Order: sequence, then C-alpha cells, then structure tokens
Amino acid sequence: MADAAGIDAVHVYSVPMRTRFRGIDVRDGVLVHGPAGWGEFSPFWDYGVAESRRWWAAAREAAVEGWPEPVRAEVPVNVTVPAVDPERAHAIVAASGCRTAKVKVAEPGQTRADDVARVEAVRAALGPSGAIRVDANAAWDVDTAVARIRELDAAVGLEYVEQPCATLAELAALRRRLDVRIAVDEGVRRSADPLRVDLREAADVVVLKVQPLGGVRAALRVAEAHGLPCVVSSALESSVGIAAGVALAAALPELPFACGLATVALFTDDVATDPLLPVDGALPVRTVVPDRLTALPAPAEVDARWRARLQEVTA
Ligand SMILES: [Mg+2]
Repeated sequence: MADAAGIDAVHVYSVPMRTRFRGIDVRDGVLVHGPAGWGEFSPFWDYGVAESRRWWAAAREAAVEGWPEPVRAEVPVNVTVPAVDPERAHAIVAASGCRTAKVKVAEPGQTRADDVARVEAVRAALGPSGAIRVDANAAWDVDTAVARIRELDAAVGLEYVEQPCATLAELAALRRRLDVRIAVDEGVRRSADPLRVDLREAADVVVLKVQPLGGVRAALRVAEAHGLPCVVSSALESSVGIAAGVALAAALPELPFACGLATVALFTDDVATDPLLPVDGALPVRTVVPDRLTALPAPAEVDARWRARLQEVTA
C-alpha cells in the first residue's frame, strides 16, 4: 500500500441500520490506525476507485496527520429523520433532544402526502421554535421542486432545502422562483473539482462532507473557496468517521447552522463504547477510540471486499 505509510492497523466493521437509509440496511467500512489516531474509509459502493481516493485521503489524514485546531468545543447538530411514517418521525425527533431536524423527502415509492405528514409530525415534536430542513437528494425537476417546496414551507416553515434538483443549472432556476434557501450537497461532493464548481447562482448554503471532499483540510479549502455558510454532514459513518466531521465543524470560522452529524443514532450499534451521540442537541469535540471492534466483526466476504478496495485505492 504505497499511500498507506504510517498505517499500523486495519479493521473492517459492519453495523445494521435501524431503518433503511440511502438504500442500505447495513453500514460497513474500514477503520485504520496511525500515529495521529483512528480514521474511517467507507465510500459507498456507488463510488468508483477514482472518487474513493478522496475518501482515503480523509482516513489517512485522520490516522497519520491529525486535524487542525478547533475554534469551538461543541457542535450543534440536527436529528436526521429517514423516510419513515409520521409516528416514527415524531418519536425519533422527540427522543433526540435536538432543536433542528433534517427530514428526508421525495423517497421513491412515497407520495407528497407522505412528505407533508412526516414534516408535520416533526414540527409537532420540535415545537414552534425548532428548525426544519428537508433533503430531496436531487429527486425533483424544477417545476416539481417549486410545488413541493412551497407546500412543505407553507405547512411547517423550512430553514432550507438540500439538493432538491440534480444540476446546478436547475438549482439556479429554482432559486429565481423561491425565497426558501437552497443547500447544495451532491453538486459539490460529486463534482470533479469541488473548489472550482461555481455555486454563486445555485446555492445559499454548502453542505460539506469530510470523506467525499478528501479530509478536514480539503473541506476547509472548499468552504473558503465558496464563501457561503456551511453545514457539515456525515456520510453515515461510525463514530470514528463522525469525529472527523466534528473536527471540521469545530475548525470552520463560522458555523451558522446545526450540522448533520447525529447519524450514529441511525445505527443499531457503534464501534465505540461511548458513541458520538448528541447531548442537548450538540456533539462534543473529541477523538474516538473504537474499543468495540471485536463485537462488530464483518462477515468474511465483506471483510475481503473492503480489504481489496483499500488495496485498489492506495495502490
Ligand atoms: Mg444530502
């Protein structure tokens, strides 16, 4: 592993999800250890080798280099609500202690009424002072987005809408027709050059994810390049990967919105005895030691698949 100098331990973990999320029921990935601590390498399987190299750069940074100094001691976070029924949505938000909720909408196979019922249940659980944002994962065309966002905003009031349409041109067209803030996620993290992609017409908020952007320092450069308010979100990592997101959020000069880093709550278990779960709507800025790896072994074929992928990416 030419690009794995300094790595002295490699573990593959596997944890079932509480609810199907992003099309997956079990989350797995690689944890690596080096002189600076633990890092996570867990690109989703729809990412190819070239894209996955950024994810590896993030894991390597965590394990070998460490992160920049934090400017805050804790990071406010949102509760993440999957495309579940209203009763579950209410229960998830009520149990979270968070004052901001990010709600998945536009799930394939569901209706607009499902989305409205879910955000209304979330509003009931949060109370009038809570903030609600929705994420459509690029599901809508511009006309559909205008109609759905107006409906959801009228129902509960939206803080922002994350990636309602696929392309930046569509997002720009949408922004000319709506007052609700638009956040760009896929449009940055899956672009060939996240530093140079032109977001000026297309977005009010930039979603930063440590692994897809190639590490905490790389993500800080993306934030600086765009000069827009940033929200740090997870790529559905274990607490080891979440710690990198917290390190990024802690190092950003400005942090005007709650971050999407409370996603360990979507897992049935975690690699650490003391997982990075929110208390009173915030995560502490700290390192994580995965002391439960032997309790979460990956099946042999999953372990082999990840080790082969690591070889490919670091070759
Ligand atoms: Mg998103």
